[in-house]
Amino acid sequence: MSKHEQLMNQSLRANALNTVRQMEGFSLYEDSVHEDGSNLLCIAKKGNDKYLMVLPREGKEPESDFDGEVVQVGKNAVLKCELTHENANFLRSKFDFTNAVRIGKMDSYGFGDRLGNASPAHLRAVRGTGFKPVLAQQSIRELERTNRTPEEVMDAASWAVFQEGYHLGFGADGDHLKTTDDIDVMVKAGYTMFTIDPSDFVVNEVKTMDSEKLKTDFEKLPWNKLEDKPEAFLKRLKTEEVQLRSGLSISVSENEILQGMVKYGRVIAHTKQMANYLADKYPDHPVELELSVDETEAPTTLFEHYLVASELDRLGVELVSLAPRFCGDFEKGIDFKGDLEQFRKEYVEHLAIADTFGGYKLSIHSGSDKFSVYEVVGALDLGAVHIKTAGTSYLEALRTIAVCKPDLFRDVMSFSIKRFNEDKKTYHISADISQIEDPAKVDEDELPEYLDDNHARQVLHVAYGSVLSGEFPEARNFKNQLMTALEEHEDLHYKNLLEHFDKHLRPFE
Ligand SMILES: [Zn+2]
Repeated sequence: MSKHEQLMNQSLRANALNTVRQMEGFSLYEDSVHEDGSNLLCIAKKGNDKYLMVLPREGKEPESDFDGEVVQVGKNAVLKCELTHENANFLRSKFDFTNAVRIGKMDSYGFGDRLGNASPAHLRAVRGTGFKPVLAQQSIRELERTNRTPEEVMDAASWAVFQEGYHLGFGADGDHLKTTDDIDVMVKAGYTMFTIDPSDFVVNEVKTMDSEKLKTDFEKLPWNKLEDKPEAFLKRLKTEEVQLRSGLSISVSENEILQGMVKYGRVIAHTKQMANYLADKYPDHPVELELSVDETEAPTTLFEHYLVASELDRLGVELVSLAPRFCGDFEKGIDFKGDLEQFRKEYVEHLAIADTFGGYKLSIHSGSDKFSVYEVVGALDLGAVHIKTAGTSYLEALRTIAVCKPDLFRDVMSFSIKRFNEDKKTYHISADISQIEDPAKVDEDELPEYLDDNHARQVLHVAYGSVLSGEFPEARNFKNQLMTALEEHEDLHYKNLLEHFDKHLRPFE
């Protein structure tokens, strides 16, 4: 930014500040001031509500297509606009930086924001770290559980970058997409990163198949979709010296080749089909593809990774990132459990495979709170990485609630404990509710300690859908109460998030 621009910005800010100051009860987000023709735009807050303010200059009328209400401030008429979907659409049409972009093969951090009010703090955390933020990031499952639409999630991201004056580009990740219908809703809402989840096509039973069964299943793979023939495939893989750029070589038997392909052949075909669908139906939409195989039963072997990557490469599918299922346990909301040295060794080798097929990023799913893993990856300083977090921001919101609305926190904690046996079903966790104290019996000032206890963290983590969806009568008011309290205590909410993500990001410095 030139000196002149800086001066301009300062005086613009001063003007905006002055006008907003004259409006009773309003406070301005100073980084939100932007020029729009002869108007100044900014975000201001009154009580618990935020507004986009259109401020005309030099006693002019606020002529603007934003939808709002004209308010007289001294000699000036100001347009006060609610943060609606229509206004968000208009904002995106005027300011490029409020649209999601492709991040490419550089370090990135996925910040799932399940409540829709954490992104400003995420942006503050990521500034100056070299990581690109992926703000809007929701799987279809998360959307259903929180009763939100992809548009709402995207709007929250657009308003956040505007509020924070973050112009460096953010990504938006349609996470764990399984069908072409899933792709459609995400494209429509402006998402740019598409995480293909082919887990329905993984054949985990290969381990127990005899060689006869393996051979027949191998023959029956969708070879036309794979643009190959079984004989040609086998010949190629058997003669191919699996030599990676790192010097690593992978040696496999014919049986392992058959097992690998029976397990992943349909995954490869499905991924190709999803990639084709995006390219054919949305040729002008910016797209980057992640492939996630993290939700399989067993860790992804190097050969399996190699097989999937080399076949996709042959089929012309370019990945921006791939999420293997790493060794050890990546449970929700707590640190890694397992052998870190083994993780380090395998990570380097997975990276060598990624490097051989286009240098895509390794993506670490269930990345919340894996502090010991960040230390390892940060210290390696090799290749690019994508870390995907979501639940940890919800937990930090609850930390804020524990401090400022103890009774609400007690209610949410008790309800989450009650829901645990049902809600834990689709998750990889090990919490034991008998280890959790009854929130009714815990002193007010000790409530935040629940957020430092692994059992309580996981219980809260998996219950987010039940707490937020409005589906259960006793929880019907939770979301509203949580949102109101977090708006009232926004500074503390942002501070807790910032401190927490500092711990996520510092190991990579
Ligand atoms: Zn995942």
